[in-house]
Amino acid sequence: MRQIVDSALNRWKDDEVLEEVNKQTIEKIIPSEEDVEVKEVKKTYVWNVVWTNVLLIGGLHLGAIYGLYIRSSVPLVGLVFNRILGFVSIFGVTAGAHRLWCHKSYKANTFVQLLLLFANSLTYQNSVYTWSRDHRLHHKHSETDADPHNAKRGFFFSHVGWLLVRKHEEVIEKGKTIDMSDLQANPYVMFQHKYYYPIVFMFTLVIPTFIPWYFFNISFLNCLFSMTIYRYIMTLNLTWCINSFAHMHGNKPYDASIGPTENTFMKYLGTGEGFHNYHHTFPWDYKASELQMDFQNMTTLLIDFFAKCGWVTDRKTVEKPMIVQRASRTGDGTYKKRFGLKFLEQAKNLTVYLLFWMVV
Ligand SMILES: [Zn+2]
Ligand SMILES: [Zn+2]
Repeated sequence: MRQIVDSALNRWKDDEVLEEVNKQTIEKIIPSEEDVEVKEVKKTYVWNVVWTNVLLIGGLHLGAIYGLYIRSSVPLVGLVFNRILGFVSIFGVTAGAHRLWCHKSYKANTFVQLLLLFANSLTYQNSVYTWSRDHRLHHKHSETDADPHNAKRGFFFSHVGWLLVRKHEEVIEKGKTIDMSDLQANPYVMFQHKYYYPIVFMFTLVIPTFIPWYFFNISFLNCLFSMTIYRYIMTLNLTWCINSFAHMHGNKPYDASIGPTENTFMKYLGTGEGFHNYHHTFPWDYKASELQMDFQNMTTLLIDFFAKCGWVTDRKTVEKPMIVQRASRTGDGTYKKRFGLKFLEQAKNLTVYLLFWMVV
């Protein structure tokens, strides 16, 4: 009897061992879903570094740090000139490339278009055409492999890393499907695109360096490093912050299912582009924010000023009931406390905003 029991127990143990061996063999032959996912990510996610871009962008950042180091010797007139140039160039990106040409959120006459193209050329952030194509791609395929600065790959990649490596093949493939016919039909945008490098060389580098050197008698080193390169790197990083900070930290009052956020830091620094959860939810709104009058949104104030002059028309926006309905349906519940509308709040916004912009 005991022999029968022992033999049955051994057989049972053998079966258990066999089952374990089979399990391990199967695991080796058929990888788990996790393994497949890791292998697929590794296959498509190769950081092919473009060393010329690393040297260029790295060198410019070192130049800006040196510029900051010797900046105390720049006279006030130089700082004011540089700040005005900084403001103007930012509007060329926010009011121009972003809201006018990329999102078609309003219409502008020839004068405003030329003004914004000039402003845009003061900062080398790719031509309006290329910038708009990349940004349309960013909205259409946000936070996927087809997003040029996919924030899912982390802060560094979405901030600057995407410019240091070859584009993901999905970015190239899906980029070809973006309808750019409206900009292809715009002679001003296409002129800037065609002659972009000579234009940007003159307007980003030569003219902003030559004017203070020649007219204000400021040293060439100061003009080049403390003003031109420093200003360029600051505006560049501010734009990049929208792709990094405003896709990572903050509330999502309008749509909690997407990555972009309402980032307090970027509300001050982004000249109106920091309301990123709103913007990705309602990308056609020319304000890129819910509020009409807001000192954190200087870009909207500028477009409204142009509209008062009769130079800008067809400003698209979103009706309040639609915003409220969407927020209650898809928001994260922070909608009610998203803005301080009181006068003191706006005064504080303006003060912080001006102080910041005086410093940078
Ligand atoms: Zn975004
Ligand atoms: Zn946008």
